Amino acid sequence: MMRGETKYYDTLGVSPDATDSEIKKAYRKLAMKYHPDKNPDAGDKFKEISHAYETLSDPESREMYDRYGEDGPSGGGGFGFGGMSQEEMFAQMFGGGGGFFGGMGDEGHSHHGHGGRSRTRRGEDISHNLNVTLEDLYNGKTTRMSLQKNVVCGLCEGKGGKASAIKKCTTCDGRGVKLVVRQIGPGMMQQMQVTCPGCDGEGSTMREKDKCKKCKGVKVVNEKKVMEIFIEKGMRNGEKIPMKGEGDQQPGVEAGDVVLVLQQKPHALFERSGADLACKITITLVEALCGFSKVLITHLDGRGIYVEQPAGKVIKPGQVMKITGEGMPHYKRPIDKGDLYITFEVEFPKDNWATTGSLKSLEALLPNRGPTPIEPELVDHCTLEEGDMEDYGAHTHTGNAYDSDEDDDEHGHGPGVQCAQS
Ligand SMILES: [Zn+2]
Ligand SMILES: [Zn+2]
Repeated sequence: MMRGETKYYDTLGVSPDATDSEIKKAYRKLAMKYHPDKNPDAGDKFKEISHAYETLSDPESREMYDRYGEDGPSGGGGFGFGGMSQEEMFAQMFGGGGGFFGGMGDEGHSHHGHGGRSRTRRGEDISHNLNVTLEDLYNGKTTRMSLQKNVVCGLCEGKGGKASAIKKCTTCDGRGVKLVVRQIGPGMMQQMQVTCPGCDGEGSTMREKDKCKKCKGVKVVNEKKVMEIFIEKGMRNGEKIPMKGEGDQQPGVEAGDVVLVLQQKPHALFERSGADLACKITITLVEALCGFSKVLITHLDGRGIYVEQPAGKVIKPGQVMKITGEGMPHYKRPIDKGDLYITFEVEFPKDNWATTGSLKSLEALLPNRGPTPIEPELVDHCTLEEGDMEDYGAHTHTGNAYDSDEDDDEHGHGPGVQCAQS
């Protein structure tokens, strides 16, 4: 199971694997101890406990919490518990009511039943991917992105119409929610709070003709906003750029952020790890043996990287060389750069590239073949064929069609050798 956080479990003093009844028991104990009637200074603690229980006692919201943590799948959301308030939850559990809750006053009530949360509601954060190139991350870039978002209607200032035309909803008496009783088991009733159908949870209604002409009573309008985004030198793939308060607006709600997540497109030449870059460069056999002076690489800012490799310094196939200070700039201190690692591939000539005579003269120039190995008594003459390491290990069977993979240990020495004795 993915588990980002265990804060709620910690609040209740139970393990994340606690059963429902363990959670209930723990909440009961703590709620009695910290209830504001008994312990007036522990109001916040009581809210914390209640909120933790609210989330963990409902299988659906517990699962959501386990999976996404406190902020929900897209951040900032939080979870409902059928919208039940702390007192309702407490009352349901202890069968209580009446004067016991006097100490709470109205404070514990909030429109959405999240009494334990901060009273300033905050809108959701929205993530957007922003595609960038490795060049953008190397050089930095200012780019624009247009975004459709809800903004509070300027004509009615988010009221939906003339203030005088707003009437309290009669279905819910302005609360925006209604209580319904639901049977959840034999003899067990659960009191649930649902959004009022009469006013859609607004708590107020307005006649059609009084509604704001611009937003049609919705209080917000959809607008296109162009944002300027600064991609700084050295930023990384997956890096988040928060655009504070650029999320959807809603009256009375602090707008969430728009979070841009950088998605770097793979680069044709370079790979990146931290502040270092790596690339593969192919040189010819002549260059590998006799040196070279040339622009070896065109860098991410278009500069040519000129390298002088002196004659006599041999570069072997697969050899790795490094150019210090030619990697990626460090984020926030772009003058410092990482290093550039180059893996050399050496392009050899094709078959029959030279006459036998010229090969003889080449051989005379090359280091000699070295000593002839002492031959064992028995010698097989074999032919080299093209091989592919992809096929390596494919010959695990003895040829018995009924052998299964499990038998490999017993029959692993198949006829992999293609030689003939002579
Ligand atoms: Zn209503
Ligand atoms: Zn309006």
